[in-house]
Amino acid sequence: MNFEQFQLDVHLLSAIRAEGYTTPTPIQEKAIPPVLAGRDVLGLAQTGTGKTAAFMLPILQRLVQGQRLIQEQRPAQNQRPTPGTKRHIRALIVAPTRELAEQIHQAAISLGCNTSVKSCTIYGGVSKGQQVIALKRGVEIVIACPGRLLDHLGEGNIDLSHVEVLVLDEADRMCDMGFLPDIKRIIRFIPPQRQTLFFSATMPEDIRSLADGILRDPLRVQIGTIAPARTVSHALYPAPDGRKTDLLLAMLEQTPTGRVLIFTRTKHRARNLASHLEKNNYRVSALQGNMTQNRRQDAIDGFRGGKYDILVATDIAARGIDVSEISHVINFDMPDTVDAYTHRIGRTGRAMQTGEAFTFASPADEVIVRQIEQVLGARIERRRLLDFDYGSQVRERAFVPARMQEPRPQERRPRTGAIRSIHGQGVPGSRSDFAGRRRSGAPAGSRTSRSHTPQRRKSLPPAGQRAW
Ligand code: AMP
Repeated sequence: MNFEQFQLDVHLLSAIRAEGYTTPTPIQEKAIPPVLAGRDVLGLAQTGTGKTAAFMLPILQRLVQGQRLIQEQRPAQNQRPTPGTKRHIRALIVAPTRELAEQIHQAAISLGCNTSVKSCTIYGGVSKGQQVIALKRGVEIVIACPGRLLDHLGEGNIDLSHVEVLVLDEADRMCDMGFLPDIKRIIRFIPPQRQTLFFSATMPEDIRSLADGILRDPLRVQIGTIAPARTVSHALYPAPDGRKTDLLLAMLEQTPTGRVLIFTRTKHRARNLASHLEKNNYRVSALQGNMTQNRRQDAIDGFRGGKYDILVATDIAARGIDVSEISHVINFDMPDTVDAYTHRIGRTGRAMQTGEAFTFASPADEVIVRQIEQVLGARIERRRLLDFDYGSQVRERAFVPARMQEPRPQERRPRTGAIRSIHGQGVPGSRSDFAGRRRSGAPAGSRTSRSHTPQRRKSLPPAGQRAW
């Protein structure tokens, strides 16, 4: 299968090539043809599967076709709408967070770079003025978070009466965040004769009834089971009370990593952990909801561009982070739900790359661990960090319930990651090289941490972090 088979406009095909996409991902293969044909789609897809392009390419195709009509009438106005003709908002994409909205906007810009389609974002935390200016100039695609969109609707700044395509992205997360009533209000501003595309990683009851209410004869497109990407390998580490930060420092010291994304339960913990790591000379930034939009963007850009090796984030703030080559996701605090685990882990192993997911666990996490294992369809490997003093709190197998005991060797799931957390096996210069690049000025890829001296590595057994 290749993108030519979708019979997309040549300008879109050239942008796809420029993005480096050679073959459609499974969700693109399944969703693009029906969306191009105008059908409503209910997409059940986990994050990192390429679902943004699955809806953005058909939207751009629709808009480019519309533009051609205008050009045929006015060849002199190449690629521009007729003077005096205001661009109407023809596609509205609603997303739960500003980060996700920005990520979708980037996809609209890069995939639409050879067209004259205009898009803008609408979200809170930044001034309304620029958004009003963009809306007045005219855009065909709006990517919006619900709260600010309702503000603009209330003030009469935005007209949704020409919307032909409505996309609800990460609908389950919007429900979790309490946006369900907002979404219902927004839908009242959009013509009922429209195409609706509904994407969600999970289908709890309230999401199902929302989908039933707004989709017309939808085609259901599901990619695999709703589970974390297969390209991610998972490990659990016992975490002694009050020693998690030490455990993390030891882990970062001993593990070859690329970019590392660490999740905490609260904003406060994200902020504190980031500053603790900074004091230990790691290049790190926090990403949490109390930060201004500019600081959040700076954190994401810095992480993406290599200014920071580590980002410490909360669940909500991390929605929509599209940073390639995150080698490790570390759950410093156990997520509350399996969905949250899936979303966190989806930040690594994106677009068929490999990654590792490490989770600090305590005996109290037994139930959620079991639920995650059910969704994964496999037991998560238990590991202990070598040379770390666990004290008396975590004894060997201390909180491994009977069914979670160490498997017999043949039961072990093969590790899928190309990156290995085996100590001392990072390949210099590769992304499995050390993120232990401290602020001391050592260049990326250099090995500055004490534990990586060849002498030290020699003393480590090949399996590095042994099972509990
Ligand atoms: P998404 O699930 O939309 O967040 O996409 C995850 C990542 O996959 C993004 O970085 C996209 O740029 C990338 N991506 C999307 N489609 C493809 C494709 N066909 N081939 C390779 N990468 C892709």
